[in-house]
Formats: sequence, structure tokens, C-alpha cells
Amino acid sequence: MTLESSDAKFPCPTSQEPLTLRNYQQQEVYECIHCWLHWLTGAQLARLLQQRGELETFVAKAERALTSNTRRACPQCRPVLLQSTKIDDVTLDYCLRCGGTLFD
Ligand SMILES: [Zn+2]
Ligand SMILES: [Zn+2]
Repeated sequence: MTLESSDAKFPCPTSQEPLTLRNYQQQEVYECIHCWLHWLTGAQLARLLQQRGELETFVAKAERALTSNTRRACPQCRPVLLQSTKIDDVTLDYCLRCGGTLFD
């Protein structure tokens, strides 16, 4: 199945089901209702972290702790694979290309 239209939904990197856009406390986040994964686009993440003044710290930590390619593709940059990284002992998948982040 190919999704070409501009409002095409991003697929979950694990189940390939379309992610659902949710609103948590004024913060938009994509969620997979099947796997309970959460995807923040680079823009959503930047907005969230900027409010807290943590954007530069986050990006620096994420890029320093990069370990390896995961087997999961970025929902937005497919077939670019997400990179596994660690922020303060939390492991997450990060896309170097768009800055999107996957939270398990
Ligand atoms: Zn899923
Ligand atoms: Zn990406």
C-alpha cells in the first residue's frame, strides 16, 4: 500500500498501521493504538523542548549517544532507519534526518 496524498498518515514503524494524531496537554503527538508507541515529529519535538529550554541539550545528547541503526524506519523519511540513542537513561529511536523521535 502506498500513501501519496498530502494528508497521508504516517505508518507505525513496527506494525505499519497508520498513526493517530492525539493531543496531550496542548501537545500534539502521533500514537500507534496497536503498539502504544508515540512518535513526535521534529517540529513537535522542537516545540515541546523549546518551551522547556531543552532543545539544544536534547539534540546534543541524542547525537552523542547514537549507537546503531534500528530495524525500524522513520515514519516520515522511509526507508531511512531510525537510530537508537539514549537520553538520561531513556532509550529511544531518533531520526537524524528529520529529528523525529519514537518513544516506546
Ligand atoms: Zn504499531
Ligand atoms: Zn525522519
